[in-house]
Amino acid sequence: MLFKCKNMNSWVLSIKNKTNTKYYHHYFCSCTKEFRLQTEINEPDAPDILCPMCGNDYFKDAVVFENMKSTKIWKYFKWKSVKSEDKDYWNISLKYQTPIYDNITHEAKLISKDLLCIKLKKDGSVAYEVSYKSKIISQYSLFLNDKVQAFKKLLFDEAKENLYNYVMINKSKSIQWIDNNDIIEFSINDKFKYITFFLKNSHLKEHRFFFWRMNNIHNYTIKHATQIEMLDFIVNNRKEKSIKKTLYQGYENSINNIGYCPYSDYIFSRNINNVDLLIKLYGIHPIIKQQIFTDETFSVAIEFILFLKLHYTEKQIVKLFVEDMQDVKEYKERLNNWRDTLRMLQTINTINSLQDHFLKVKLTTKKLHDEIVRVFNIISYEIDVKENFEYDEKYLSTCGIYEKLEFKLPQTVKELSLWAKTLHNCMLGYSRKIHKKQSIIYGVFKAKELLYAVELNNFRIVQAKATANGNVSDEDMKVIKSWNNNSLVKIQA
Ligand SMILES: [Zn+2]
Repeated sequence: MLFKCKNMNSWVLSIKNKTNTKYYHHYFCSCTKEFRLQTEINEPDAPDILCPMCGNDYFKDAVVFENMKSTKIWKYFKWKSVKSEDKDYWNISLKYQTPIYDNITHEAKLISKDLLCIKLKKDGSVAYEVSYKSKIISQYSLFLNDKVQAFKKLLFDEAKENLYNYVMINKSKSIQWIDNNDIIEFSINDKFKYITFFLKNSHLKEHRFFFWRMNNIHNYTIKHATQIEMLDFIVNNRKEKSIKKTLYQGYENSINNIGYCPYSDYIFSRNINNVDLLIKLYGIHPIIKQQIFTDETFSVAIEFILFLKLHYTEKQIVKLFVEDMQDVKEYKERLNNWRDTLRMLQTINTINSLQDHFLKVKLTTKKLHDEIVRVFNIISYEIDVKENFEYDEKYLSTCGIYEKLEFKLPQTVKELSLWAKTLHNCMLGYSRKIHKKQSIIYGVFKAKELLYAVELNNFRIVQAKATANGNVSDEDMKVIKSWNNNSLVKIQA
């Protein structure tokens, strides 16, 4: 058999004439030759004849074809694909030609019928839409490439492929930048997801946006978000162009280097209102930014920055991240300090007790870290030790002014921790020993200023130290010794 026109099938349409005594058999060959036979007998079956032009002898019966009740497997069937485009859609229609008898002209002629239509909306608001136009689609299979294939699936696959190719050749403005080579390995369905995503988010013009996932933030807040929703979410739905621009540039820069980690941008957006300051934060180098906040610490970090805002201006807070933390020589150490700070805030729920214990310090990573260590220690002791110290009456009686110095016993863990902070020493570590009466610590004041800490054991001085474990002046040391001899040592004696 020869088929000169590859998209045509060969048909025969048998129609009874007006007198009901004869049949006219209209042949439409795939080679485009048409011819007609007339039979006298009342017999609808068309005679088996050859096409006089090409010699083809196989003609499908056009009447039976569309009214077949059972399923059927064809050896071949041809159809064609028609492309079109309008304001809103790209369209592909798969059609076939079949003869009908025209009752007005009394002629048999070929008409076109739809099998399947598929279209893609240009604004990306929906996925591709498919409609099946003919019942023959589900009735037939085709023996193709040595196997029986469901006609429906064959058509559907071809239509999708054609639609994709058509869209890529006739790209709309918003997806002009898309490079076919970037997605050549994709399945056809993923290709459509990809195109649809960028049709919908027409301001995103970068391949990698398609792959952007942020599962943790995702779970923390909203479900089933698209990437553009996530972007809006990261910037806290802020509309300022400069903010979005910087975020996108930072994202681009980040993904080119190490991949994008959204937590820092997310936290900054939520806490810093000033546009210029926020842009400075977005501009921090991605490698540093990635380490400031992680998925493990970001919820405590949000609370912490909110807390810091009670004590510091946005400008001071931003300076902490943009200047202090990025010191050329010490940035690793400072980042470690900062991350350690967040970990302490997270442990034993320190963050919730900040309000009670935090004392404002100069806002540097180092000083902030030391302050949180102090608070952390207080809270650690509060958990398993009581707050108030109890003392033997003998010790209490020695409190007060002696010569120019004043001797005090700390009444609470908090007071001891404040002294430790003032003297920059590890006194707080003595809380347990004080509670167990294994140690006694006096604070020594001159003119209301805490100058020294004196530790006693069994009524005698073990050590007396000034700030940062420095030495007590000779003059004051004489007074301290005298105080000890004249009070406690005597009591003991
Ligand atoms: Zn022919």
